Amino acid sequence: MKKSSLIISLVISISFLVILFSFTEISNTINMLDNTSDEMARLANSETIILSPHLDDGVLSLGGLMSKRENQILLATFFTKNPNKIIHTKWDKISGFSDSNTAMQQRLIENKNALSNINTVIKNYDYPDFQYRKEDTGIETNIEKDIENLINTYQNKEVFIYGPATFGSKITHPDHQILHNAFMNVLKNNTKINVHFFIYEDFPYVYEFNSFGLGNLKTYLEKTENIKFEEVPIELNKAELAEKIENIYKYSSQIKAFVSLNENIKNLAQKFYQKRCKTILPTSYTCEIVYKPI
Ligand SMILES: [Zn+2]
Repeated sequence: MKKSSLIISLVISISFLVILFSFTEISNTINMLDNTSDEMARLANSETIILSPHLDDGVLSLGGLMSKRENQILLATFFTKNPNKIIHTKWDKISGFSDSNTAMQQRLIENKNALSNINTVIKNYDYPDFQYRKEDTGIETNIEKDIENLINTYQNKEVFIYGPATFGSKITHPDHQILHNAFMNVLKNNTKINVHFFIYEDFPYVYEFNSFGLGNLKTYLEKTENIKFEEVPIELNKAELAEKIENIYKYSSQIKAFVSLNENIKNLAQKFYQKRCKTILPTSYTCEIVYKPI
């Protein structure tokens, strides 16, 4: 081959490689953009956001609101990380799991199944559960940022966001307390008029709070948070409560753990929600109560 032909072939080969490389980069970027815009579209269509510490808390506490199907719901669950190293805990054992890996895999499936009949978008954050971690440093601040970022994806749309209550350190699970604190910080710093905040009663912790005779939860929250609240009942009919209980039972591993602790969640939920509503609104079959800052 002549020297000039060799140079031309080399130039053509290099150009071909450059074009191929650029094309791959461009298509990767397009894929990334597609994923981001899909995620944005997914979020923007959900006007109700429920912040859930663990995979079962959203349905346990607001399964009735979900069964009303008034808005599309985004269920954001925070403590869903599968630990890098396999861990054995008492809670996973009484839930029927041999270790953390099988527990987290199965619990994610249970969550999908429980929500499959409801118009719910699932968003899971990657924080380790209290039973799997050694320290809490930075989690609350990071969750606060996550909540703010989540709210910002809705731009100017009307958003109804529900976060967990607190019942004091003797009753409240540490993960629920962290999420409550992060939620309250976002609520207190919020300046957007299109975002409406509600505190929900975490079930079954609220049952415990009431049975300990610790007084009225609204008064307790007002004192703890230094904010005035309005009690807002979410009225549920018989079918809506029945669907909530049916969906709670789809978290079968957690039901198994409750049973081993002698807790009959079905009877507890039935009794609690009917009694809860009679105090507030005698005409309705049953209701979930949320607290709106005023
Ligand atoms: Zn929980």
